[in-house]
Amino acid sequence: MKIAFIGLGNMGAGMAANLVKHGHNVRAFDLSEVALGQAKANGCETFPTAKEAVQGVEAVVSMLPNGGIVKRVFISDVIGHAPQDAILLDCSTIDVATAREVAKAASEAGYAMVDAPVSGGIAAAQGGTLTFMVGGSEDAFARAEPVLSAMGKAVIHAGSDGAGQAAKICNNMLLGIQMIGTCEAFTMAQKLGLDPQTFYDISSVSSGQNWSMTSYCPVPGVGPQSPADKEYQGGFATALMLKDLKLAMEAADTAGASTPLGAHAKMLYEDFAEENGGLDFSGIIKTL
Ligand code: NAD
Repeated sequence: MKIAFIGLGNMGAGMAANLVKHGHNVRAFDLSEVALGQAKANGCETFPTAKEAVQGVEAVVSMLPNGGIVKRVFISDVIGHAPQDAILLDCSTIDVATAREVAKAASEAGYAMVDAPVSGGIAAAQGGTLTFMVGGSEDAFARAEPVLSAMGKAVIHAGSDGAGQAAKICNNMLLGIQMIGTCEAFTMAQKLGLDPQTFYDISSVSSGQNWSMTSYCPVPGVGPQSPADKEYQGGFATALMLKDLKLAMEAADTAGASTPLGAHAKMLYEDFAEENGGLDFSGIIKTL
């Protein structure tokens, strides 16, 4: 397929490279020359503008920083410039309201579009093992699925427009809450005289077990390799966790959902991000 890819940063670079590996002709655009150089080295064809990149394509994929940028790029450079039978896929993490607004604009102009945010970080983007949660019609999902499958290990239809973003922020709100809870439990266990490995051996097979403990343990030297073993470098940046918690709280307000723990997690990550936005989000254990 001929696919335009817009936004080839930390995540988009690996995703576009995987589309190339699956035999697709990838037409790349990014504002950054460095990102474009990397895309070219990975086998993409590069273009000086998004409008040129989307000429004659069958699909447009974007992986951009926020909702404002996604809206600008789709409204001014994609809709009306890509062929009308191209399927549009936004994989960025953005607010539900903007995802729905852009999908509506696309639909009014005759395009099918999905929101398809991801779970998994830079390593999963490079390894082609992302999970995609997809919002859009059945027909749009069926058309988007083969494109997403080339970049991920799981592609799940979450519901109508915006449902992918809704699933993503609910999941990441839970992750933030769980991570803080896991950090608190390990810290308290240690203060009560328990060895962290012993607490892990017990809790990882008891009812406190959760992903933040058994797949991403915040304590160095305990559980499988995780950013804690590299002084909290790499992994999922605290600034991105904070971004997702802010989106979750906005969505909770709009939907009238009560999320006291989500609000508290956002407050704690706000404090931690002031000086540690680049550290992995499990580094919050250092503040307890
Ligand atoms: P990034 O900042 O590394 O990449 C974004 C890219 O978009 C940059 O290369 C930037 O130059 C480009 N860009 C910005 N404005 C543009 C425009 N108008 N036109 C074209 N290109 C433009 O960010 P990232 O880490 O790759 O994250 C991208 C998205 O993925 C975000 O929405 C983020 O929340 C989400 N996400 C990131 C991770 C992660 O671990 N990094 C995990 C899951 C989801």
